[in-house]
Amino acid sequence: MMLDMEKFEEFIANYPIYEYRLIRTADIHGAERVRTICRVECERYGTTWACPPAVGSLEECEKKIKSYPDGVFFSSVAEVSDLLNMEEMLSTRHAHEQITTEIGKFLEEQGFSIYILSTESCDICERCAYLDGKPCRHPERMHPCLESHGVVAHELVESGEMEYNLGGNTILWFSLILFR
Ligand code: SF4
Repeated sequence: MMLDMEKFEEFIANYPIYEYRLIRTADIHGAERVRTICRVECERYGTTWACPPAVGSLEECEKKIKSYPDGVFFSSVAEVSDLLNMEEMLSTRHAHEQITTEIGKFLEEQGFSIYILSTESCDICERCAYLDGKPCRHPERMHPCLESHGVVAHELVESGEMEYNLGGNTILWFSLILFR
């Protein structure tokens, strides 16, 4: 089944989507070095369901990704009054996650099965249930981050000849929705 691009474009016109590219997951290769950065440098490592090791091994993640032949990689744009205002910055990120969820729902309504990867780790709950050995409380809203699956966002940006940064007081957030 093919994605009806006309319907898709009509739908995303409701949101501040800056750019999107359709990608083939055959072109994605999980990078071990990204997982090393997760383990060594990220304080979220081992603290949420959206991060390694909870998301599974790199091989498992790659297998999951490849089980969806297609994906739509997109950026949403937000404007903030001050890039150093973390609270404002986070609210734009939450808006992006919401948009991602909505686009995912649209694809499901079109008859696709989806798998979403997004920006940074999940911060929906104040304390992730992972830390208490409990299942995720919002699996339908939780999006593991791209890097947790060894996917390098800026490589997708470069290969798609997309903008990574628009300068000024704008922020671009990225998501990848895989579908089959
Ligand atoms: S929704 Fe809550 S429990 Fe699930 S990954 Fe996010 S923070 Fe953890």
